[in-house]
Amino acid sequence: MIDFSLSPEQKEWVAIAQRFATEVVIPAAERADRIAEADQAFDWQVIREASQRGLRTLSVPKEFGGGGADVLTLAMVGEQIAYGDLGLAVAFDQSWKIMTALSHLTNDEQRKRWIPRVVEDPEFLLGVGATEPLHASDNLLPYDAPGSGMQMSAVRKGDKWILNGTKRYISNGGLAKLYYILARTDQKGMLSASLTGFLVPGDAPGFTVPEIWDKMGQRTVQNGTLVFENVEVPDRDRVGEVGASLPALGRFLLGFGSNIQAGATVLGVAQRAYDVSLQYAFERTQGGKPIIEHQIQQVRLARMAMKLQAARSYLWYAGWNCRQPDFDRKHASLAKIFAAEESVAVVKDAMELWGATGYMKKNPVEKLMRDALSFLHSDGTNDVLSLKAAAFIQQERRESSDARYSRRVADAARGL
Ligand SMILES: Cc1cc2nc3c(=O)[nH]c(=O)nc-3n(C[C@H](O)[C@H](O)[C@H](O)COP(=O)(O)OP(=O)(O)OC[C@H]3O[C@@H](n4cnc5c(N)ncnc54)[C@H](O)[C@@H]3O)c2cc1C
Repeated sequence: MIDFSLSPEQKEWVAIAQRFATEVVIPAAERADRIAEADQAFDWQVIREASQRGLRTLSVPKEFGGGGADVLTLAMVGEQIAYGDLGLAVAFDQSWKIMTALSHLTNDEQRKRWIPRVVEDPEFLLGVGATEPLHASDNLLPYDAPGSGMQMSAVRKGDKWILNGTKRYISNGGLAKLYYILARTDQKGMLSASLTGFLVPGDAPGFTVPEIWDKMGQRTVQNGTLVFENVEVPDRDRVGEVGASLPALGRFLLGFGSNIQAGATVLGVAQRAYDVSLQYAFERTQGGKPIIEHQIQQVRLARMAMKLQAARSYLWYAGWNCRQPDFDRKHASLAKIFAAEESVAVVKDAMELWGATGYMKKNPVEKLMRDALSFLHSDGTNDVLSLKAAAFIQQERRESSDARYSRRVADAARGL
């Protein structure tokens, strides 16, 4: 049976997030978005307030005092916070998805040591570092050559690892108190067997954040360059087996909700664009009547609503799918791509409906357009995610014993 109604717990979290977005996030973002210096815009008061409302630790397992939310619930709640502001939603969303992944990938001792710190500190955010200046998509779509892909090194020295290298564009860079960092433990091997994950505290000696990137959108969260110069990480902060973390990165994107949450947050931006456009269409008069009474604007709004609901339905399906034991791995990426593309399309529709007024900085649509564009590239470029999904489809070859196999199609392919 298909049922789109929310559970009582989901309803409660969505309502909490809606109130938080209106009361806290929107006013904070209106101030922060205009701050020119990228390293001055982050508003810690928003994080403290979210901690009080239980939102920051939403994905922490219940046994540790968190909300225990699954990927589907996180997608619903993330959309609501992003409705207020995408950058601030990303600050939470990154922490949620990394916590989901770490709850699965870490061992018992690591969970007991780290998760209470996350819960107890109202300013504890997390970051994940894969992207490097010279190897970005190469880490998501590895190619078969020894030593290819990320170059950051982790060399074992007794019971410690010494990390050297640079990551960039990292969300929550310079804000996070803990980073999940991927590094090579074999410089010459294939990437698939050379990556290992480490937990690195934000105050580790030798770790610096020399640049906070000045971005077009998502101006309310920081994206940093992380530099590691002989950073010592104890072996007990290694996550998983040595050389086994590339599949973990894949699970992070597809199974633990990274792509789905990314799509859900950019959808929040598009929903806001729709809502402000609907109001504007009722209140703005041209041609002697409110513009909503002009058929072309009615159709535009109808198509915006269609795109929003189609993207949301796919994301929710993908959220349900990734909880299934034998889930179809292509849907997380495809749902993110679809949401990212349709959200940009909806915000562009909003721009057209608002006319020149939408282009003006003091009105809301201009910021929504800058924010929406970020997810064409963040959490993996849409091109690369399409290629990953296409690779799964290539494994779906149907044999003649399959009920869907058509003899006529086989003959046609042979020119018969
Ligand atoms: C706002 C934002 C936040 C981010 N946060 C994080 C973070 O927290 N942690 C993190 O690790 N990363 C993060 N990233 C990085 C992100 O996930 C992408 O991997 C990265 O943006 C790719 O950037 P690039 O400019 O280096 O592109 P490249 O990888 O250099 O790609 C350039 C172009 O080539 C295409 N391309 C690449 N490889 C192939 C191929 N094999 N075949 C065909 N086309 C290809 C790409 O699609 C793109 O069009 C973030 C990025 C942004 C924009």
